[in-house]
Amino acid sequence: MVMIIFNKLKYFCCWIGWHSYFIGFENIHHSIKDPLKFLLFAKCKWCGYTGQIDCQGNLF
Ligand SMILES: [Zn+2]
Repeated sequence: MVMIIFNKLKYFCCWIGWHSYFIGFENIHHSIKDPLKFLLFAKCKWCGYTGQIDCQGNLF
């Protein structure tokens, strides 16, 4: 029961854009399309979404 609530909470956090914000991200990397290596990309541990990390450490 607790796990179901927790899964719903994770789903909700991803939905509002807080992709595994509290536990960190997976596969943090630079894009090969970005020659300046300025942008960081990472994968959400909860939903598998891959996106860009902004200057505040949020995945979007
Ligand atoms: Zn997510």
